[in-house]
Order: sequence, then C-alpha cells, then structure tokens
Amino acid sequence: MNETILEIDNLSVSFDGFKALNNLNFKMEKGELRVIIGPNGAGKTTFLDVITGKTQPTEGNVYFKGKNLKKMSEHQIARFGVGRKFQTPRVYLNLTVKENLDLVINRNKNVFSTLFQKANQQDRHSLASLLETIGLTAKANLQAALLSHGEKQRLEIGMLVAQSPDLLLVDEPVAGLTDEETENVGNLLLALAQSHSIIVIEHDMEFVRQIARRVTVLHQGTVLCEGNMNEIQNNPRVIEVYLGE
Ligand code: ADP
Repeated sequence: MNETILEIDNLSVSFDGFKALNNLNFKMEKGELRVIIGPNGAGKTTFLDVITGKTQPTEGNVYFKGKNLKKMSEHQIARFGVGRKFQTPRVYLNLTVKENLDLVINRNKNVFSTLFQKANQQDRHSLASLLETIGLTAKANLQAALLSHGEKQRLEIGMLVAQSPDLLLVDEPVAGLTDEETENVGNLLLALAQSHSIIVIEHDMEFVRQIARRVTVLHQGTVLCEGNMNEIQNNPRVIEVYLGE
C-alpha cells in the first residue's frame, strides 16, 4: 500500500467570518505530483498557507508524515520537511547561480548536523548534479541578475530542492514565462517528481496539461472534484466554475 504524506481533514479557515476554506478534505500519497487549480479566490493560496503554518486552521487538522501540524510554527514545519516556492523568484541577484545554491546547501549542513544526514545531503544534492537537474550547468558562474525569468524560477526550484524537503509546494511557477521557459520548468518538475512529493498551484491550463497526473479543483474553499486531466476537463461542474470562466 502506498504511504500517505499529507492528509487534511475537515479544514476550515475563516477571516472575519468569511470562510476562505470550508470543510476541505485532501489526501496525497508520497511521491505524487499533484496540481491544484481553481478560479481566483478559490482558496489555493490559503491552502498552501495552512500547510506551511503561515495560517492556522479555524477548524480541522493537517497531518504531514503522520504528524498533526497544529501546534507547530512555520519554522518547525519547514524543518520537518515542507518547502515552499513562492510565485516571484527569491534568489540573490548579486550572487552567481552556484553561490545561490551553495548558500542553501551550506546552511542546511549546519542545520542537519548529524554525520549521517550530512552524507545523505551530499549524496543527494551535490552541487553538480543539482545544476544539471535545473539545467543551469553552463550558467553556474553567471550572476543571477543576468538570468532570464524562467532561469531564475529554475534556480529557485533548485534552492528549494537543496533543502531536502519531503514535500515541495510550488506556487504558479510559470506565470509570466515564455512558452519555451514554461516547458523547461514543466520538464524540471516532472524530473523532480520522480523522487519528490510535489504540489503545484497553477492557472495556466496548457502547463497543467503538460505536468498533471492528478488534479484537484478547488472552488469556494473546498474540493470541487479530483481526477486526471480528462476527467477534470469533462466534468460539467468544472467547466461551469472554472474552464468557462
Ligand atoms: P486563491 O489563491 O485561490 O486566489 P486565496 O486563498 O488567496 O484564493 O483567497 C481565498 C479567499 O479568502 C478570497 O476571497 C480572499 O479574498 C480571502 N482571503 C485570503 N486571505 C485573506 C485575509 N488574510 N483576510 C481576509 N480575507 C482573505
């Protein structure tokens, strides 16, 4: 049987009485790449905010790796293995690509101080293989400021992976990218999905088609439906609330 990495039960989040999330249930297996779509205001960002501990549930529980995250701070949740990439790249523009990655790798070495974890870290994320994965080997010594927007997104995804998270949360990674850059980011996420659990929030339906195996549609703070792209696209309720927007 497959292992559940994330399970969310009856989650509600209210802001001054307005329910941004309303009795939401969600389950995801380890190693899954899940795409979450939904119209503006559906609750996608709030959903990620709750998983990372930025926002506390009003009701319900979030279980990650079998542990209830309720009493944990944002920082503790990050340490416990949830990594988040925000929509806008947050790389250090005055450092090179390599220096940006080094920074995260070295920071993590200090955090994970046992010998075993150090070795594991080095095995999995040697700088060279990370550069290769994100397709930036040839630009390793280039200042990040000189990268295209798509390359910056890939660099930041690399920085996220370097933290060895068990679950990657990726928020609209292709907003504002060219078609070619979008495809590159898609291929990167597909490659990472072979060894990581990933949740991607996305608006761009072409991109969703490229990467999605299983899609969850949020609407008015709850799950409208789940399924593969075919099922989603042919679901009349989805067409009504989302695709027909
Ligand atoms: P999405 O990311 O799907 O566009 P959000 O999670 O950002 O949706 O927002 C869901 C709803 O909750 C929206 O109606 C939004 O206005 C509201 N909302 C989100 N954050 C707050 C907040 N801090 N205070 C009040 N309302 C909020």
